[in-house]
Amino acid sequence: MEIIFASGNKHKVSEINQKCPSSIQIKSMREVGFTDDIEEYGTTLDENAKIKADFINNLYNQPCFADDTGLEIEALDGAPGVYSARYAGENCSYDDNCNKVLRSLDAEQNRKAQFRTVIHLILDGQHHQFEGVVQGVITTDKRGASGFGYDPIFLPNGSSKTFAEMPMELKNEISHRALAVAQLIRFLEGLD
Ligand code: IMP
Repeated sequence: MEIIFASGNKHKVSEINQKCPSSIQIKSMREVGFTDDIEEYGTTLDENAKIKADFINNLYNQPCFADDTGLEIEALDGAPGVYSARYAGENCSYDDNCNKVLRSLDAEQNRKAQFRTVIHLILDGQHHQFEGVVQGVITTDKRGASGFGYDPIFLPNGSSKTFAEMPMELKNEISHRALAVAQLIRFLEGLD
């Protein structure tokens, strides 16, 4: 079975392909000829994942899925959440986003946060949703140079290292995305 992953990120596509049973091939949007961006106008991660999956499903009428991830900070009522990519403004850098979070939590004692990934799958006209969550705290300073996004300021519970201080392989095993992908794969394996 061929499933389109509504993502332009080829690293994500190959990571999922490596974990999938051989009966399933994951194709990127680019591989099926779609090179534009899909507008993410949703106000929640769940909505955005569904919007992207619906868009590709309507275009190609083939099994497909999409993901959306956000950092949800308790003291900021779940922000940046669905706006994680552009928290500090339209063309901001990862560093701008981290700095804005640190400033926003300046005098804040409650530094609880979680990364959440939602995957929305459309298969044979049925919709399925999978979710991966990693809980932790926001540090008071940026630590580490590995990874991307908010990794330097996110300390997963039970770890003394931020995501950016961990080897990438370890983060990719325990991350919110890995947990959501594991659920997706368990579901797909069950179809055999
Ligand atoms: P996306 O839905 O995977 O494109 O993620 C949206 C935004 O969330 C990214 O632009 C990053 O700022 C942030 N983000 C997603 N995943 C991670 C992660 O694993 N570590 C740090 N930041 C992340």
